[in-house]
Amino acid sequence: MENPGSGECPPPQKRNRSSTASGSHTQDKAASTAPKQPQKREFTEEDWKASEHRWETVKEEREAAERTREAEETRRRNLEPHERLQEDGAALQLEIESNPDMLVFLETSRSQNAQCHAKDDCFYVRNEAAFDNFIWDKSRIRVNGVRDETYWGVETHYYHVICFNYMISVEDLIPSKFKLEGSWGLMVRKWYQHKGCIDLDKIAAYIAEYKAYEERETDRCGPHHVRALHHGPQCDAESDPTTCSCPPAPRALDKPVLRDYTTGPENKVELSDVLSHQDVDEMRYIHVFTWGVGFEVVAPETEVQDAGGKETT
Ligand SMILES: [Zn+2]
Ligand SMILES: [Zn+2]
Ligand SMILES: [Zn+2]
Repeated sequence: MENPGSGECPPPQKRNRSSTASGSHTQDKAASTAPKQPQKREFTEEDWKASEHRWETVKEEREAAERTREAEETRRRNLEPHERLQEDGAALQLEIESNPDMLVFLETSRSQNAQCHAKDDCFYVRNEAAFDNFIWDKSRIRVNGVRDETYWGVETHYYHVICFNYMISVEDLIPSKFKLEGSWGLMVRKWYQHKGCIDLDKIAAYIAEYKAYEERETDRCGPHHVRALHHGPQCDAESDPTTCSCPPAPRALDKPVLRDYTTGPENKVELSDVLSHQDVDEMRYIHVFTWGVGFEVVAPETEVQDAGGKETT
């Protein structure tokens, strides 16, 4: 480091623009008495050549940049739409991961006015399944906190789930950058929990089992259950059910248990495949009333974790 005393900039050195021959002439104070003339410095042959060379260099650089830009445009145009989406997706993923304001949500579409930000590469536009890229699906992807390209503002972008799937492995953004918003069925919840590593067929089989169980349970706990806790009409409702002569209360049915449904990463399921499954809305969270506790929101499923055998409900 220089010492502070010498830190000051020296006064700018006068640039000796012209040759030494003309130097004495321009500095001649006597010249001030001469009629006013715009002071024009003389260009030497070398000056001229130097600026010509500089201009050539600038022009070449501009042309090279223009050629690069055109080549890039052509390259992009010649890509398959899904390849283009993949490229855009890689850039978007970096942006999402580095910008603390950006968050991705799976949400229920509140309207059909949002347009898919995949624009011309939108799956629906490409397949002429729609005249435009408006999102008509029940659910959609929302990206919050997108920095606008044209002004210093923040925007929200929407995507078809399938278009976003082409762009980004959205499960890689779980949990901090990708959230489920609202109430979702068992399949979507398990997909999220295991970052896509689930067996949809096994979950579908469990859902069928659970629905059958619910039906039988409703039958079993019909009118007789309500009637004074299984005591017959001849019996006092206060009697001890183990000693009275009433038939024993029907045994509670075994609740089906969800197990062995996770897979390795090689058998990952895409979110768009989960959302198009016919059972996607089954087994959302339910409200359960318990005396002394009140209403609670709970998952209806009973699950055994693969290794330990620990039951969770
Ligand atoms: Zn789309
Ligand atoms: Zn009952
Ligand atoms: Zn009884």
